[in-house]
This record gives sequence, C-alpha cells and structure tokens, in this order.
Amino acid sequence: MSIQMRGAEVAKAMKEKLIREREELNAAGVNPCLTIIRVGAKENDLAYERGAKKRMEMIGIECRIAELPEDISQQELENVVQQQNEDDTVDGILVQLPLPKHLNEQAVIDKISPLKDVDGLHPVNAMDGMSPVNLAKIFEGDRTAYVPCTSEAVMHIMNHYGIELQGKRVTVIGRSMVVGKPLSMLMLGQNATVTICHSRTKDLADRCREAEIIVAAIGRANHITADMIAEGAVVADVGINVLEDGTLCGDVDYENVREKVSHITPVPGGVGNVTTSVLASHVLRAARTGQNEHGQRRG
Ligand code: NAP
Repeated sequence: MSIQMRGAEVAKAMKEKLIREREELNAAGVNPCLTIIRVGAKENDLAYERGAKKRMEMIGIECRIAELPEDISQQELENVVQQQNEDDTVDGILVQLPLPKHLNEQAVIDKISPLKDVDGLHPVNAMDGMSPVNLAKIFEGDRTAYVPCTSEAVMHIMNHYGIELQGKRVTVIGRSMVVGKPLSMLMLGQNATVTICHSRTKDLADRCREAEIIVAAIGRANHITADMIAEGAVVADVGINVLEDGTLCGDVDYENVREKVSHITPVPGGVGNVTTSVLASHVLRAARTGQNEHGQRRG
C-alpha cells in the first residue's frame, strides 16, 4: 500500500512558519504585498489567481490583481510592470504566463525587477545582460535564487515525507525552464543522480524503470503507466491535464501506479497545492530583502 503525498498536508506544515515570518515583518513596519498581473481572463489563470489569493490571505500577505485587457500593447504591459517595480509597497510581481501571442513574453519577464521576481523566471540581470539572476543562479547551485515555485514545491514534498535524495537515481520527465530543468538542478544539488527525459528520449520506459524516484512534468494525461515503474519507487506527478469530461488528472496513471510504489502525489491534491505556499515564502523573502535594503519603508 503506497503513501499518498498530499499537498494540503505539506502546505499546512508550512503555514505556521510563514505566518510567523509575516508577523515579524509587520512588527518591523512592513506589510508584504504581491501583485499578480493578468492579461485577459483565461480560466486557467483565474483558477491559479483564486488559489494564490486565498493562500496569501491565509498567511496575511496583501495580494493585488492587475487585470489587463487581452489586446493590451507590449509597451502598455511593460509600463504596468515598471510601475510595480517602482512601487515601494509591492514586494513581489507575478505575471501570469503564457501571454497572448501578440506579446513578447521574454521582454516582459526581463522587465520585472529581479528583486521582485518571486516566480524565479529571470535568467540574467537585465541591467548588465550578464550577471546571473534567479534561473542562472539555480544552475550555479546558488541558494539565494528565487526558484520557480512548482519545482521548489516538489522539493518541499520530498522533504516533508522524508524522501532521501542523496545518491538516488532520479528520472525527471520534462525539460521546461519552469519545471523540468530547475527541478533537475535542485535534485542534483541534493546529490541525486539525475536523468532528464523529454519528447525525443528513446526508451523512456527503461529510463523510468531504473529510477528510484520519478518526477513527471510532461502535460500528457496518464502517460506514465505502471509497467514503466519499478516496485517501491517514489513518484511525484507535476502534470495537470483536463480530460474530455472536464476532470483533472496527472501525467501518471495514478490508479494502477499507486499499487506498485512506496509514495505518490495525487492530481489534484498534490504538487499544485504546495505551489502557492512556496510563492508566499518568496514574497516574504522579497519583503525582508526590501526591508534590509531600504529600512522601514512603510507602515
Ligand atoms: P512544457 O513546457 O510543455 O514541457 C513539457 C515537457 O515534457 C517538455 O520538455 C517535453 O519535451 C516533454 N514531453 C512532451 N511529451 C513527451 C513524451 N511523450 N515523452 C517524454 N517527454 C515528453 O510543460 P511545463 O510547463 O513544464 O508543464 C508540464 C506539466 O506540468 C503540464 O501538465 C503543466 O500543466 C503542469 N504544471 C503544473 C504546475 C503545478 O503547480 N502543479 C505548475 C506548472 C506546470 P520537449 O522538450 O522535447 O518538447
């Protein structure tokens, strides 16, 4: 019988510490604040926004929403980001991605101040175009970076359930910049032996079967089946897929795989539930950094 690694349980364990940190900031005269920038009104974005807002409220972090029209111009959007950069009462900025096709996403990401980049999307410092910020720091093993929230959420789950990573064979399926790659670097940082798979990987089943820990971040419903998984493995399922009947499922064939493994995250109810707690922790860190740099900025 496998242990279900439940996101709500991990988020609950994180909550008290986050509230304490927020109270300390309040006592020092700082009210932490996140701005979420949303272009248009896609259901996915609205769902994420509701979850993030609820989590911030729970911790006591102010959450502002900048709702922008679907047809906003590049310049107008960059101006909104710049306003948030310059607003001393805002500690973290999250731009909901992907943006509509007519917008240059990377240019918008580059516009976010690295100090407020709580979603960890910045590759390099836009000021000098060279020095590493967030994403690049992760690849250097620098722990001061803001790590993309989902990949850090997986690490929190592993830690909460006492999954040892050192020396373990880990297979990460997916190599995106928001999940697969940063997560692989975090696992490597914990001395795991990491194999990264993608759509061109030959013998994906073999790469999975030899793993003691599998992380699926593909975006294909039930793609990882029980025959691809070793008895007693640990499985973290990052995928979120909507089936034709509207139900959600992960990348892993949960019902059959759970019979074989030692630990597994459900979808929904797994990784996704921890992501907004990680986001909250990043906003608090950004507020602390701002406090140290500018003293008591506001009451
Ligand atoms: P993405 O950018 O589309 O990347 C998907 C990755 O999967 C790519 O590297 C792709 O390989 C690989 N892939 C696709 N088909 C494959 C196959 N048949 N075999 C092996 N690898 C394959 O997606 P993402 O943004 O990383 O997200 C991945 C999943 O996580 C999605 O379901 C997304 O909704 C979910 N997600 C969840 C959360 C959360 O909070 N739980 C947050 C973010 C994303 P190539 O590089 O070769 O194309």
